[in-house]
Amino acid sequence: MSDYAHRAAVFIAELDAAVDVHLDWTRRVLRCALTHEPPGEQMLADDAHERCHFGQWLVAAGPELERLDARKAHQLVSLHRRMHDAIRLICQDVHSGRPGNLEALATFESSQAGLVQRLATFKTRILADAVRLDPLTGLPLRYSLEGEFMMGQRAAHRGGTALFVAMFDIDHFKRVNDTFGHIVGDLALRHLADTLRRILRPNDRLYRYGGEEFLLLMLAEDDSEAEAAAGRFLDAVRASPVPVPGHGDLPLRVTIGLARVAEGDGLEISVERADQALYRGKQAGRDRCVVAG
Ligand code: GH3
Ligand code: MG
Ligand code: MG
Repeated sequence: MSDYAHRAAVFIAELDAAVDVHLDWTRRVLRCALTHEPPGEQMLADDAHERCHFGQWLVAAGPELERLDARKAHQLVSLHRRMHDAIRLICQDVHSGRPGNLEALATFESSQAGLVQRLATFKTRILADAVRLDPLTGLPLRYSLEGEFMMGQRAAHRGGTALFVAMFDIDHFKRVNDTFGHIVGDLALRHLADTLRRILRPNDRLYRYGGEEFLLLMLAEDDSEAEAAAGRFLDAVRASPVPVPGHGDLPLRVTIGLARVAEGDGLEISVERADQALYRGKQAGRDRCVVAG
């Protein structure tokens, strides 16, 4: 199983366990209402939402949830607290023989429904990322490329700009594997992906296209702007050798084939043209960008 899939499976198992404990806890409230047993100090405490297992999971999982969707992560925290506050009111009433507070019950029900719905959204997102992202570099794989390509074409049309496909291939990458082994090869791929990712502009989309090939979709006014952008990627790679433990810095170079997407051309033909330009760049000595004719 890939790193991502494994981490996603563990995260979801923990999420499910935390929800189970919470449901168990709700059943205890129902039992307390029926039998008039005291609900226990833990349930009535002001900080019950921090003491419960779900609350503790929420704190531990907070950074991961925030990374996925900060707004929904905060909503989870406040819904959970509202749920505890409502349940406390209900328990206090029941325990002291007062009639149940219907407003508190409605708050409890709506916050529980909201909590369950948001948790389901997080689960879907985590599972989607596990299949959508490359486990080695964290970059998207090509599954969403077709859709993003069409969106790029529409954006170019609307904005009076052009869509470009840039294909990156590492120079002499076999030598890296042959000299230092595959683990260092993998490290170099991750390092390169980080280098490229750092200088992406908001509308740029970078994919791990294949083994040591990366594909960039970008919008630019014209060929020279796109070429200048490709030049910045070449410079960034030249300036960012891979720190290999025990071996010092390992320089990396890439060759880029750049194709302007012509009116009416689809993804396949545009990638093909970028590939041909890349091939010419390799023939011409590598470490450069060649624009498709
Ligand atoms: P060129 O400059 O012509 O591109 O030379 P090259 O050696 O890079 O040749 P090529 O592009 O054909 O080689 C790709 C190599 O990338 C072969 C393969 O072993 C290696 N590779 C592909 N995917 C991975 C990976 O995930 N990890 C590692 N370590 N190596 C990979
Ligand atoms: Mg290759
Ligand atoms: Mg290569």
